[in-house]
Amino acid sequence: MKTRIQGEAESGRTALHRVAMSPRLRVFSAILICIIHAASLAQTQRRNDAHSKSSRDTFTASDRKLVERAIGATCTERICDPQGSMPIDEMQSRPSLAVNNPDAISGAQRAERLLPTTRRLVGEAIVKLAKEYGLYGTALSRAKINATVARVQSVKRVKPDVDARDNASVVLREPRTIEFGTIFLAGLRSDEAMVSVLAHELTHIASGPSDTLRPLFRAIAQRAAARTNLRIQGQRAEELSCDRVGVMAAREFIAQTASWEPLPRRLARAFEHNCVDDDSSDEDHLSPRSTIRALFALDVPLAGELLNTTIGRNRFAPTAFPITLTSSASDF
Ligand SMILES: [Zn+2]
Repeated sequence: MKTRIQGEAESGRTALHRVAMSPRLRVFSAILICIIHAASLAQTQRRNDAHSKSSRDTFTASDRKLVERAIGATCTERICDPQGSMPIDEMQSRPSLAVNNPDAISGAQRAERLLPTTRRLVGEAIVKLAKEYGLYGTALSRAKINATVARVQSVKRVKPDVDARDNASVVLREPRTIEFGTIFLAGLRSDEAMVSVLAHELTHIASGPSDTLRPLFRAIAQRAAARTNLRIQGQRAEELSCDRVGVMAAREFIAQTASWEPLPRRLARAFEHNCVDDDSSDEDHLSPRSTIRALFALDVPLAGELLNTTIGRNRFAPTAFPITLTSSASDF
């Protein structure tokens, strides 16, 4: 069985029609968008200070608004960030990239470098989610979850693949390799984006051929569906849950690696490949923008963090200080 991270490449989408704009005008527009974005983030931070104290057990109308604002901020941040990811619809419109293309090579090196860290973060995220959704309470359920975490550790390699283009995939019977399209490798320009996509694929491997994580996938999908009114069943539940683990892994990666960059910028990178113009879905996947919506609906505090800004305050302070990591998922 082959599991893919995005299914749209083969769905015969129509080509994108973009408004013609001179390069100078395009740069000017992007700068203007980024200035407005910075000002609006500063305003949002003042509003969020009160909001962040509300209960997280329910999903309110104001949470829904927060989620929508976070989607907008994420996709604007993508434009303003030199390391912002290329959206997958733009990747799809590009010609194939050779394995020895410099951007594909640097993407492959980034993926190989981050694979060991991401394996550990995925194990921790799966255990955390299993606890959150009440699937870690008995010895049997703990044994099942721990077996999925162990499976993740068998993945040792990222293999660049020209024909996979803007997809990454794993073969569950032989879970040692993640096949990664060269366009996708080149289009994810940050560590945060790469961690989120690697974690997605590793979660497929964790569930394995016997679908061990299916109860967790169903529980996550049910909560997301209740909060967004999206239809999230079958393979869509698995794909969304893999993305949920991806976001958690990226968030933890950010917490554990020092950076001078603002937190919202780093957080946005976990979502930016979904900032498409052509927002179509298929049977197995929510549309890319619905995916961002569901992910923020599942983690409203994260949407709040994304809307907070360090501009004018902690802009020159590291996002986080490195901390000592536990190596065992059972310590989580
Ligand atoms: Zn997938």
